[in-house]
Amino acid sequence: MTAAPRPLPPGSTIGIIGGGQLGRMLSMAAAQLGYHCHIYAPEETPCAADVAARHIKGAYEDEAALLRFAEAVGVVTYEFENIPAAPLRALAAHVPLHPNVDALELAQDRLSEKDYVVSHGGTPAGYRSVSSLDTLQAALGELRAPAILKTRRFGYDGKGQIRIKPDSDLSSVWTDIGEQPSALESFVEFEKEFSILLVRAQDGAIRIWDAPDNRHVDGILAQSIAPGMGIIAEQKAQAGDLARTIAEALGYVGVLTFEFFASAEGPIFNEMAPRVHNSGHWTIEGSTTSQFENHIRAICGLPLGDTGLMAERVEMQNLIGTDTNDWPAWLKKDRAHLHLYGKGEARPGRKMGHVTQLF
Ligand code: AMP
Repeated sequence: MTAAPRPLPPGSTIGIIGGGQLGRMLSMAAAQLGYHCHIYAPEETPCAADVAARHIKGAYEDEAALLRFAEAVGVVTYEFENIPAAPLRALAAHVPLHPNVDALELAQDRLSEKDYVVSHGGTPAGYRSVSSLDTLQAALGELRAPAILKTRRFGYDGKGQIRIKPDSDLSSVWTDIGEQPSALESFVEFEKEFSILLVRAQDGAIRIWDAPDNRHVDGILAQSIAPGMGIIAEQKAQAGDLARTIAEALGYVGVLTFEFFASAEGPIFNEMAPRVHNSGHWTIEGSTTSQFENHIRAICGLPLGDTGLMAERVEMQNLIGTDTNDWPAWLKKDRAHLHLYGKGEARPGRKMGHVTQLF
C-alpha cells in the first residue's frame, strides 16, 4: 500500500473523455456521489451528455481543446480506448488522469498486450505478429488453421478480425483486413467465456467482482450471467491473480477488465480493456457497488465499495439494434431492471440498452 491519497471531494467536477453509454453510466454513478461530469466527445449529441453537466465537443486529436476541457475539472478519465496517447500525455501533465496513459497504450495494441500478459505469467492463444502476406503465410504455417487474424489496433465487438479456415484464400484475407499490422491467433476450443472485472484504488487496494459467464452472438456480447459456474468457478482464481498482478505492475487506478476463454488447458487470456466494461453492467443492481461507482471512487481517491452479489444469480442481457423495441415487455417483468441509453436510430449491432434480472 502507498500513502493515502488526497480525495477529490464530492461537489467537484470529473472529466470523462468519450460520450457513449459507458460515459453515461459513469456520469450517473458520479452524480449519485454528488459529483458533476463534463463529457468530452466529438459527436453532436453523445448519449452521455444527456446526464452530464456539460458537453465539450471536440476531436480526440485536438490537444489544445483537451487542455481547455481539463482546466475545468479535478480529475479526468476515459470510457473507450481509441484515443491518441500523445494529447492525453499532455493533459496528464496538468490534471490527474486515471487510468494512466501507459495502461491505455498497452491495451491499444493487441500484440504488446499479449506480450505483456505472457511476461506476467498469463497464457493467451498461440499468436504471431503479421505485417505482410508473406508473414501471414509463415504464421499460419506455424499455428495452422483454424485461426483468427485480428488487427493490432482499433478492433472491437468482433470487428477488425477474420476467421481463417484450412481452405481460406490468404491473399484475400490480407486484403480484407486492410493490409494492416495484425496478430494471427490460434482458434481456442473453449468451453465458456468469462471476464475478470477488477478495480484498483489510489492506495493500492483491489477488489474483484464475481466472474460473469459471457455469451457472445456474432462477436458481440449478448448476455452476462453472474456468478459464472462450473469451469469458470474453477478458473476464476487463477485469472484473478493474473489480473491483480497486471493491475499492480501498471500502477493502475480504476476498473480494469480482462476477457478469458475457459478451456481444458486453463484460463486463456483474450484481451483487456482499461475501463468499465459491458460484461460488468450487471453490477449496477447485481452487486453492492457497481463497476461505475467503484471506478468513480477509485479515480477520486475514495475508498472502494464492497463487490459482493445482491442475488443468487444475476443475468444481464444486451438490447442490440431492434431488441430495444421490446422495452414495454421488459417493464412488465418483476425484478427486471431496464436501461435504455437514449440513442437515436436502432441500427443493427448498435448497443441500445440492457436489462438486468435478479434471481
Ligand atoms: P474479441 O474482439 O477479440 O474479443 O473477439 C470477439 C469474440 O470472438 C470473442 O468473444 C470470442 O467469442 C471470439 N474469439 C475471438 N478470438 C478467438 C479465438 N482465438 N478463438 C476462439 N474464439 C475467439
